[in-house]
Amino acid sequence: MPKAYDLVVIGGGPAALSAALYGARLGLNLIAYERKAFGGALSQIARISNFPGFDGPGLDLGAKIKEQAVESGAQFAYGECTDIRREEKRYRLTIDDEVVLARSVLIATGSEPRSLDVKVDVPVSYCALCDADLAKGKNVAVIGGGNSAAQESLVLSPIVEHITLLSRSKMRASINLQKRMSQLNNINVVEEAKLSSELLNGFDQIFVFIGHQPATSCLGSLEKHEDILDKEGYIQTGFKDRSPHGLILPGLYAAGDVRSGSVRQAITAAADGVEAVLEIAEHLK
Ligand SMILES: Cc1cc2nc3c(=O)[nH]c(=O)nc-3n(C[C@H](O)[C@H](O)[C@H](O)COP(=O)(O)OP(=O)(O)OC[C@H]3O[C@@H](n4cnc5c(N)ncnc54)[C@H](O)[C@@H]3O)c2cc1C
Repeated sequence: MPKAYDLVVIGGGPAALSAALYGARLGLNLIAYERKAFGGALSQIARISNFPGFDGPGLDLGAKIKEQAVESGAQFAYGECTDIRREEKRYRLTIDDEVVLARSVLIATGSEPRSLDVKVDVPVSYCALCDADLAKGKNVAVIGGGNSAAQESLVLSPIVEHITLLSRSKMRASINLQKRMSQLNNINVVEEAKLSSELLNGFDQIFVFIGHQPATSCLGSLEKHEDILDKEGYIQTGFKDRSPHGLILPGLYAAGDVRSGSVRQAITAAADGVEAVLEIAEHLK
């Protein structure tokens, strides 16, 4: 028999963890499935100092929220959701090779980095904090021209031998970040760079920071539904008579960075998860 829950949360970032905390405290029988690392994008933040009441590594913030949720009775498991199907009055989810049933589903899958569109033979990474160790003492290229590329270059600078920051356009990072980079003697910025395999294969390792895209692969066949996604591919909620976080089908909700119109901050994702779970508890009544 497949396992059955009041609520299955997909994701393990601040939106999912906060929803799990509040949902468990409301007495819902719930589980959150995460495909990579609990904490979500928080795991990539060396120091988060704009989350009210917390100042420290993002990883610690994620672990704290998860701990509170576990104490309240929430369940967590690793697994990737690849399909969601409506079946009579419940949902049938595919989590890795397993089928899980749920009266309601909260999609809190956030966003994922845009991949490099140039073929390279050297290692490519999308997270400085995660992979800096592999680049110790190496000659690396950072690709991107925004705040992320600049911030990640500052993280890499004390660890690697040299950084060439390649921006396809003029730099868009804040003046403050650009000033900090210019004070370091191992960062060289190249604007309006033409990226080619030949150029990039000349580095030991490439770090890519060219924006994010919504992570919606969990929708499976639902993704084809014309009203599910907005033009940029984010999940649309709040249709006609649906509550603000509700999708086109009853019992199906979204929260956090994956939701159309999100401001993409840790605190707003956490609050969004909470608002969504309050709507879900109301729906389940
Ligand atoms: C480098 C970086 C620095 C940042 N700095 C700050 C900052 O200083 N302050 C701030 O407030 N915000 C910051 N942010 C933004 C903040 O981290 C995000 O707004 C927030 O984490 C979004 O939370 P979320 O729960 O919606 O999604 P995420 O944190 O992205 O979590 C989504 C999770 O869902 C999982 N997932 C996706 N698809 C599936 C699937 N099919 N099945 C199972 N699991 C799945 C993913 O693996 C991921 O762990 C930063 C983000 C980045 C990338």
